[in-house]
Amino acid sequence: MFKNAVENIEPYTPEVPIKKLQQELGLKNIVRLSANENPFGTSLAVKEAILNWDFTTAREYPDSNANDLRQAVAKFQNVLPEQLLFGCGLDEVIELIARTFLDEGDEVLEPWPTFSEYKLHATIENATVVDVPIRTSDGQFDLAQMCQKITPKTKLIWLCNPNNPTGTYIPVSTLKKFIDQVPEEVLILVDEAYVEFVTEPGETSAISLLKDCDHLVVMRTFSKIYGLANFRVGYAVIPEALIGKMQAVRLPYNLNDVSQLAAKAALSDQKFVQQTQARVATARNQWQDFLSQQGLKFYQSQANFIFFEAPQALKLKETLLQNGYLVRSGLQPDWLRVTFGTTAQNEAMQQVIKDFYETL
Ligand SMILES: *Cc1c(COP(=O)(O)O)cnc(C)c1O
Repeated sequence: MFKNAVENIEPYTPEVPIKKLQQELGLKNIVRLSANENPFGTSLAVKEAILNWDFTTAREYPDSNANDLRQAVAKFQNVLPEQLLFGCGLDEVIELIARTFLDEGDEVLEPWPTFSEYKLHATIENATVVDVPIRTSDGQFDLAQMCQKITPKTKLIWLCNPNNPTGTYIPVSTLKKFIDQVPEEVLILVDEAYVEFVTEPGETSAISLLKDCDHLVVMRTFSKIYGLANFRVGYAVIPEALIGKMQAVRLPYNLNDVSQLAAKAALSDQKFVQQTQARVATARNQWQDFLSQQGLKFYQSQANFIFFEAPQALKLKETLLQNGYLVRSGLQPDWLRVTFGTTAQNEAMQQVIKDFYETL
């Protein structure tokens, strides 16, 4: 009945709704720090925009072209409006890329571990995914090894920067050197879901490389620093030669008007973005200090989460959950990924971790 590729598929595990989890565990309050959501909420400009939405348009199909949002993002990123493709979350853009470019037998190259959806959608298209392990010492991509793994069958290369789940980051200058070695027939996809959290100096976004490279796609989302995960808005900046066919594959009404409105309002409030960035950077330093003091190995993060080696990880995860904090396991045995919370949440979690290892 099913197509072959789907027969043995490993589904993506979505988050359980917080209320449901609270009920199941009999806990009053659970703080979800497993999904890299923004603990500081979202811009109030979003609320205002939505409350002003014209409800009588509910019966109408949304703007298929996302015109207002398109103009705003193009101006903000200094790219042509026609270079943008919007998705129902960046998730949909990832799916669309697999759907548009992959035939059976094509190869897709990615570092591992990375965001699991690249593999999921490549697999559904009957492509072969080639994982190149990260360097275990510092969690960085092994770019030399990735270059070596390119074959005539290689169609796509995924680079998540900063990478989920490791949090590691490569500067654009390093990325450029890598791209220069990749044949033009291979499409390079840079997922910048977390790039706004980067505080390292210098150019941080591969969007700056697009003017000299026509086999590069750069992706962004409103779900992370903008705190809009519920509205499902992501986009890609795409070379002009590729955009037409991708638009043809995209579902025409993938993005509803309320989401378009919300994303545009969120973009207009860069103060909220800067505040979040500063608060996350403080939390990140503080977590890295804490983990160093505890003697727990972690990778240098430039994102809004940290990936660390936690002996008895599943037991620690369970203990954190009993204390009301949900973190992410399962990405690498005995490692956990924790999204930074508010200062109070971070301190409370660190106390639980400290006590856990002291009494172990
Ligand atoms: C969260 C995330 C996405 C998906 O974001 P949505 O826009 O919410 O679909 C894409 N890529 C990475 C690396 C992510 O962590």
